[in-house]
Amino acid sequence: MNKNKMIARRIAIVIVAVLFAGCQQITKTSADAELKKKANELAQKYIIVDTHQDVPYRLLKKMEDISKRTAGGNFDYPRAKKGGLDAVFMAVYVPAEYEEKGGAYAFADETIDMIEGFAEDWPDKFVMARSVSDVRKQFNDGRISLAMGIENGAPVEGNLANLKYFYDRGIRYTTLAHSKNNHICDSSYDEEPKWHGLSPFGMEVVSEMNRLGMIIDVSHVTDKTFYQVIQLSKAPVVATHSSCRHFTPGWERNMDDQMIKLLAKNGGVIQINFGSIFVSKQVNEQYKNRKKHITEYIEANNLKGKEKEKYIKEYNQKNPLADADISDVVANIDHVVKLVGIEYVGLGSDFDGVGDNLPNGLKDVSCYPNLIYELLKKGYTDEDIRKICYGNFFRVWSDVEMAALELRSKK
Ligand SMILES: [Zn+2]
Repeated sequence: MNKNKMIARRIAIVIVAVLFAGCQQITKTSADAELKKKANELAQKYIIVDTHQDVPYRLLKKMEDISKRTAGGNFDYPRAKKGGLDAVFMAVYVPAEYEEKGGAYAFADETIDMIEGFAEDWPDKFVMARSVSDVRKQFNDGRISLAMGIENGAPVEGNLANLKYFYDRGIRYTTLAHSKNNHICDSSYDEEPKWHGLSPFGMEVVSEMNRLGMIIDVSHVTDKTFYQVIQLSKAPVVATHSSCRHFTPGWERNMDDQMIKLLAKNGGVIQINFGSIFVSKQVNEQYKNRKKHITEYIEANNLKGKEKEKYIKEYNQKNPLADADISDVVANIDHVVKLVGIEYVGLGSDFDGVGDNLPNGLKDVSCYPNLIYELLKKGYTDEDIRKICYGNFFRVWSDVEMAALELRSKK
């Protein structure tokens, strides 16, 4: 072969190789576009229920018209519709301080008024929902179903009759505690346990919630509380917004493998929290280090009141947390699935409750299709995705309703 021929052959090989790679790229890109299209279709086709969003508390701090695209926040009607969100549990969040200073019941009552106000003010966009059948009926009529859960048992105020009152107002779950121990049980965020699980009254609360058909939410509680609840409860329980401790070692706010196994054995479901500190080991460590530094600094310098608040605010601003990635949320879902199966996991984003510290790709309620796309890429089937979007949680909600009927018929 002469030199010219050799060069021509090499050029030809390179051209063929480039063309081949290009074709592969086109096939890959079009397959990817197909998958994205399918993810969008599934988000619209299936009911998506998100079991925890802090929209009311966000609006309490700064009112916005959520029927339109809002400048801030993670939730509004247009973004929810784009994301295929059909039902959302609006958190009736009651700050821990109300347990001490009183007024928890009234605060919860007013927050419920506010949520009902959304449906009254924008009846073509929002509608209240009290049951699985309400959500099913209202699915596809263009409106978003608003269900309610109380976050923090403080508003029970030591009186079981108040649980019935809140149930009648439409509350369908209660998170037993929030950031501090209360009269019902211990909180995972508190420094010292008060009851070593449930208080004697807390045990009565579990039975009454079973009888009413109110879901017991084990997010936020201590491990001991969780184990006691599981032992006492006659119905499955839900973690409405928790992730896997497997990724955040030592952090009691998330559930460890043993707990997830027991939750599943009991027929319950873990609804994965999207917050970056919940799903990413790296961000969780950063968060814990930040907290440790602040606590030590405040103690060493004896900071109190406004000085203390100012230091925390400034330090946090100077040391912002990193954002996790959507793949971290998928890893959490995947972990539950590998551990106990596809039947025991769902979505409890904590949108509007975890600040801006949300994963890339999952910044607001318009992003559920991104999550579905990632699951499809991992080989999850349509049926798997249906279960994650609503099937699993609806099963538990129905089981809780059924258990209540049975318990009440016995008396
Ligand atoms: Zn919470």
